[in-house]
Amino acid sequence: MNAEQVIDRFRATGALLEGHFQLTSGLHSTVYLQCALVLQFPENAEAFGRAIAEQYRDDGIRLVASPAIGGIVIGHEVARALGARFVWTERESGQMTLRRGFTVAPGEKTLVVEDVITTGGSTRETIEALKHAGANVAAAASIIDRSGGSVDLGVPRTALATLKVLSVDPSVCDACKLGEPAVKPGSRKEKN
Ligand SMILES: [Zn+2]
Repeated sequence: MNAEQVIDRFRATGALLEGHFQLTSGLHSTVYLQCALVLQFPENAEAFGRAIAEQYRDDGIRLVASPAIGGIVIGHEVARALGARFVWTERESGQMTLRRGFTVAPGEKTLVVEDVITTGGSTRETIEALKHAGANVAAAASIIDRSGGSVDLGVPRTALATLKVLSVDPSVCDACKLGEPAVKPGSRKEKN
């Protein structure tokens, strides 16, 4: 599955919108992503999971770990395709951590999987939580990289598709300069 095919599945399900958007961060972008909309179809989650797994087929990955909630569906599919175990991290008092009795074997070779990497924040926190638990975090992967490839997680990283469109402060937003109103996608009802 190439990057274009991945993006096509996002477009077909309304998971990738193009226009002028105000993101929850307050930043503006010409692209809005809502991964849940493409992953609501299990055949898409399965196909993306297989494509990510293919990149790590020979790496001896025993454990896949993802940050809740966004990473759970895709992480689970990657683990299934690799024949690995799957756990997730979640926040407890603001700290990303393994809960629910999840444990890691010492040195267990682990792949961290996210749906979208933007700043890499939650992925980085998940890597730290897994390392803290004793895992050997070999790499990180996402369906989409919307950092333009700029995020450094301290481990090798892959994405099925990389978006070059960055998010910008409204003060330097080209669409704002043209006088176009920014849309908050979550509150938009007339489309999709
Ligand atoms: Zn704008």
